[in-house]
Amino acid sequence: MHKKKAMAKRSVKAAVIGAGMSGLIAARELRREGHRVVVFEKGSEVGGTWVYDPRVESDPLGLDPGREVIHSSMYKSLRTNLPRPIMGFLDYPCDAKPGVWDDPRPFPGHEEVLRFLQGFAADSGVVELVRFGHEVVRVEQVAKGRNDEWVVEWRTRDGEASAEAFEAVVVCNGKYTEPRLAEFPGRSTWRGEQIHSHNYRIPEPYKDKIVVIIGNGPSGIDIAKDILHVAKEVHLASRETTKLEILEGLFQHSPINHAKEDGKIVFQDGSSIYADAIIHCSGYKYHFPFLRMNGIVNVEDNCVAPLYQHVFPPALAPWLSFIGVPYRTIAFVVSELQSRWVAKILSGKILLPSEEEMTSSVHEYYHRIEAAGWPKRHTHRLQLEKFDYENWLAGELGLTPLEKWRQNMYFTSVSLPMTLGENWRDTWDAEKWMKGEAGGEEESDKINCTSEC
Ligand code: FAD
Repeated sequence: MHKKKAMAKRSVKAAVIGAGMSGLIAARELRREGHRVVVFEKGSEVGGTWVYDPRVESDPLGLDPGREVIHSSMYKSLRTNLPRPIMGFLDYPCDAKPGVWDDPRPFPGHEEVLRFLQGFAADSGVVELVRFGHEVVRVEQVAKGRNDEWVVEWRTRDGEASAEAFEAVVVCNGKYTEPRLAEFPGRSTWRGEQIHSHNYRIPEPYKDKIVVIIGNGPSGIDIAKDILHVAKEVHLASRETTKLEILEGLFQHSPINHAKEDGKIVFQDGSSIYADAIIHCSGYKYHFPFLRMNGIVNVEDNCVAPLYQHVFPPALAPWLSFIGVPYRTIAFVVSELQSRWVAKILSGKILLPSEEEMTSSVHEYYHRIEAAGWPKRHTHRLQLEKFDYENWLAGELGLTPLEKWRQNMYFTSVSLPMTLGENWRDTWDAEKWMKGEAGGEEESDKINCTSEC
């Protein structure tokens, strides 16, 4: 590909939206590259998803657009589904730091990840760049024809609105807040209680109940096991029956065919049960309510389109970028590599191809997805690419490909919850995997590819 004409090395004034993991690493990389950075964070602390909030939304399915949105989807018992060595940044690993973050477990609790991110924000100095309690409500080009002039408008908690101009905007607002619901006939008239996993916090409300969980992704399996201790029965409905261990009180089914008003749920294989509650663990939707893009970037069937390498809308590159859009990967490392790439492109050290070439690369990627038979909503799912994307980014940055142990550790750990019982997280031997004494690569071929988040 031909690269766009070289820019002189420059420092830009950049707005980063969000102070979760992606916003923090983006801010650090932008500042390292000499850019002037402001981070807007609607919450009162750094950490995003990892800031556990016991509150739930007024509409447990998230259908009411006027509801007060709670950002985090963490549940109280959550432990990471990736082991500690792949929960940090390349040059700031999530190693135990006595007295600061020292959960000894290989898959630490969510509190530990928050402490790690707080430590990173403090040590990197990024915390000083964050304007807390600033919710971005509008991002728009100031004038047509000038891609490097953006207005960012925000509202503070006391309702005051203000705006400021920036040359670049880096969107890091997260992707696990806006629920995506499972569709089936009878959903809206079914008499039982329904929530989306976004609003699941603790198992107690399910005591002695018969509960159907939709979805066999990490959240579905984790929540099923969480409530199994208190519920009467837990029924997991999913497109693929996983190799989940048979646990007492846990039953697996095909997806729901329909639900009846009297509480009956009929599965696609013809079996049926009477249930008290349904928990939709059916994933999330990308949501950028603040973007005024006049159709240049859209979310269609959960694909943010068009995005060159999941980061830049070709027509607005490099002035508008998105960090953390891909999923089913090592999230911390991907956001770090993307952030470095964006920072160096903005300073002119790395050059992008022309707009036409970026657009045709995006379309080529869409064709590949289609040819592979993936639904459009899996456009940003990287798992099947087997680290080609991560290594491509590393190559752009002049780095060597990711170490093999990271890939093996990732693929093995994402397959474990399906094959091991309740204590799988404690029987993990991280050392063995880091030394390359265990396999893992072969696990990538066994991954269930139809489950959602
Ligand atoms: P977020 O953490 O969501 O941060 C986005 C930030 O943007 C938030 O602070 C939010 O307040 C702010 N924001 C949003 N909108 C605005 C606005 N308009 N104005 C200002 N600020 C705004 N990943 C792993 O690697 N390992 C795991 O084990 C793991 N487990 C997970 C379990 C659950 C239940 C969930 C939901 C996710 C899990 N993840 C896990 C993925 C996790 O999302 C990433 O690790 C990471 O936290 C993503 O960071 P982010 O910064 O992209 O998004």
